[in-house]
Amino acid sequence: MDPRRTLESAGGIITQRDPRRCIVRLRTPAGLLTPAQLEGLGRIARRAGLPAVHLTTRQTIELPDVDPETIGPLLAKLARNGTPLGAERNEVVNVVACPGTATCRLASIETYALAQELDRRFFGIELPVKMRIGISGCPNMCAGERLCEIGITGIRRPLRDDGRCTGCGTCANTCREDAIVMVNGCLSLDESRCVACGMCVDYCPFAVLADDGPQYRITIGGRRGRHPVLGVDLATVRTPEEAVAVVGAVLDRCYRRAYAGRHFADQLDLMDLDGLRADLAARGIRAVEPDCLALSSTRAAGSEGREPDLA
Ligand code: SF4
Ligand code: SF4
Ligand code: SF4
Repeated sequence: MDPRRTLESAGGIITQRDPRRCIVRLRTPAGLLTPAQLEGLGRIARRAGLPAVHLTTRQTIELPDVDPETIGPLLAKLARNGTPLGAERNEVVNVVACPGTATCRLASIETYALAQELDRRFFGIELPVKMRIGISGCPNMCAGERLCEIGITGIRRPLRDDGRCTGCGTCANTCREDAIVMVNGCLSLDESRCVACGMCVDYCPFAVLADDGPQYRITIGGRRGRHPVLGVDLATVRTPEEAVAVVGAVLDRCYRRAYAGRHFADQLDLMDLDGLRADLAARGIRAVEPDCLALSSTRAAGSEGREPDLA
């Protein structure tokens, strides 16, 4: 356990209804545990006489009904097991991620390594507000990232490939957003509807549609709770390193400008998002311009020389 995180200030120790007991929340980025860690956790809970462990909604594990007198040795065992004390206060708390490309066939980005890198760099950093970070491999938002203070979503944009489209319409049938319609054998794409899931690219039977690589759309200011709101777009970048750098810049700005006692979502005006984007650009973080992300269309076979039929 980090010696700076004393028992009194450790965010992962939570009071519970029974005032003689407390809850110990763990640090488990992306909810990933090895079989050995899982077995070790079972052993620790059994020897501590705990009746159960609890899987939380944010991919952490909590040990309820802990006797505060036993907490020191318990935390030492948990740290040795690789499942150390987590966070819960005004700090960066457990990083949540869906499986991404590790297992999900819909994913556009890798998520586990990104979650672990964000955890390694930023977990437990004290801030004026609680900071949740979530990552989803595609816009299906299984990790609820846009309801987090910082969200990262994997996206892929379909790209133009003039002249080879057969006009079969598979992409239009695949698109759940009705963003593609066929007009005179040509694709017509409605950018306002497209969520950049990349499914049309995957399902084109003739490999006509392509994408220009996975991208990381970063949103800030999401909120769960009684009055949930979706985070707003801050920047879209092309590499996990750039995504980590953007998250670092947001945390830095939050540390310097946000006030305690107000949710981060209510303080976005203080963050000066345009200024933050300019800072990112000055640091060499190349945000993908919205125009470059714009959906393009393909032309029907034999239509070379015509302008594409853009929506
Ligand atoms: S958000 Fe997308 S990539 Fe992640 S689990 Fe859900 S469908 Fe799969
Ligand atoms: S990338 Fe856009 S156009 Fe293609 S299937 Fe997804 S929402 Fe539809
Ligand atoms: S882009 Fe592919 S799926 Fe869509 S109409 Fe053309 S050939 Fe068919």
